[in-house]
Amino acid sequence: MQTAEIRRRFLEHFAERGHTVVPSASLVSPDPSLLFTVAGMVPFIPYLTGREPAPFPRATSVQKCVRTLDIEEVGKTTRHGTFFQMNGNFSFGDYFKEGAVRHAWELITGRVEDGGLGFDPDRMWVTVYLDDDEAADAWHRIAGLPVERIQRLGKKDNYWHTGAPGPGGPCSEIYFDRGPEFGPDGGPLVDTAGDRFLEIWNLVFMQYELTDVRSKEEFTVVGELPKKNIDTGMGLERVAYLLQGVDNMYEIDEVAPVLRRAADLAGVVYGDGRDGRGSQERDVRLRVVADHVRSGLMLIGDGVTPGNEGRGYILRRLLRRAVRSMKLLGVDAATLPELLPVSRDAMSASYPELATDFARISAVAYAEEEAFRRTLASGTALFDTAVSQAKQAGTPKLSGNQAFSLHDTYGFPIDVTLEMAAEQGVTVDEEGFRALMKEQRDRARADARAKRTGSVDVLAYRRLLAEHGPTDWRAYETLHTDSR
Ligand code: ATP
Ligand code: MG
Ligand code: MG
Ligand code: MG
Repeated sequence: MQTAEIRRRFLEHFAERGHTVVPSASLVSPDPSLLFTVAGMVPFIPYLTGREPAPFPRATSVQKCVRTLDIEEVGKTTRHGTFFQMNGNFSFGDYFKEGAVRHAWELITGRVEDGGLGFDPDRMWVTVYLDDDEAADAWHRIAGLPVERIQRLGKKDNYWHTGAPGPGGPCSEIYFDRGPEFGPDGGPLVDTAGDRFLEIWNLVFMQYELTDVRSKEEFTVVGELPKKNIDTGMGLERVAYLLQGVDNMYEIDEVAPVLRRAADLAGVVYGDGRDGRGSQERDVRLRVVADHVRSGLMLIGDGVTPGNEGRGYILRRLLRRAVRSMKLLGVDAATLPELLPVSRDAMSASYPELATDFARISAVAYAEEEAFRRTLASGTALFDTAVSQAKQAGTPKLSGNQAFSLHDTYGFPIDVTLEMAAEQGVTVDEEGFRALMKEQRDRARADARAKRTGSVDVLAYRRLLAEHGPTDWRAYETLHTDSR
């Protein structure tokens, strides 16, 4: 089943059940406390926290998400993209646990001919929070899940809150068993890598008012919320990879074409001899390229441009990592002009604006690759000198200073320096680098403060003037008198 078809079925399923279909918000988070939209619930935060009345009791969406936290997982696990799409259904004081369980189960196990996703009910597992008997009971009664496939986990895994006083509550996650060839029996509880039991959907039950929130696991429950909410998130790419019979989310229809094109450009075969170490590493690189190119496309599509701070820096890192990975795969020519249009074509069924806006998007991406190529060309000489000096000195470690000047003068992001150093068997004094970065930031802040203080001082002078009247300036007279 194509990804666009799964998306369509999801929205239709919930629309038929009284949910208002809400278009995806931008990847630039509508909530000012977040750089990027990291989950389907982000655009609904004002309704979920009760800050604003919800304009509808039920909503559904397919939300574009970026999670930079997952960047190191990309290509290594089967299930983490820096960009992904979260399908969600939301209830604002309307249905609660039973409704959430019923709606999810009907979609997952509904027959394909009837608009469902057709998962085998016998391969589904769920987790609930330790004392959440209501949820466990709903899974047992409504979905008919045997108690062995309803596992109870603690706050670390099955509790949600914002990290601040406000709504919170237990959650319940749905897993698919990919089979014994991917790991031992025992359900998600024993499968800490998540390779065999794949988490596809998280149902959050916003049930309590919390206070005194000290950490993920330490808080005080004040009592039940007057209006309980449902917030769910299903990973579209994860469902697609299962339904398309491929091994991971980078091999689905919306991502694989880039992966294949990258392999072609590098003259290698993806997945060739999976047990050999070399190709393993190569395959990870190809998956990183496919993931990062897509994330770059989507971020620029939403108006982010490469830069040295905040969102722009994340975008820069993603694009540069993709370009460098291609270089490591042996491709010296510019690669984004080859890869970006492939990603656009794979994504534009769901996001037609990528095609209409492609002239702008591609200009931004290609300019960044050019800038990076110049950076690499000029900085690599300094890098090589630093490495050979370090090796000669018998201390195979680049100093914080060297890493800092690569960053400051040549625009080498620290992860590029780290990666290049690791390839040469050299470590980097990252702590020293961070200390220098902090110094630079503090200096910049102090400068900014000095500027601000300047204007404050003028105000202070005005106030003095208002309070005390103009100072009698007698110097000229005095001087005059003295010289007389
Ligand atoms: P995991 O434990 O696998 O990292 P998660 O528990 O962090 O996932 P949630 O925060 O519960 O994920 O998000 C809801 C759903 O969104 C997940 O069940 C999953 O299907 C999907 N999802 C989360 N992170 C990613 C990602 N980086 N790439 C693709 N899908 C994701
Ligand atoms: Mg995660
Ligand atoms: Mg999880
Ligand atoms: Mg989860």
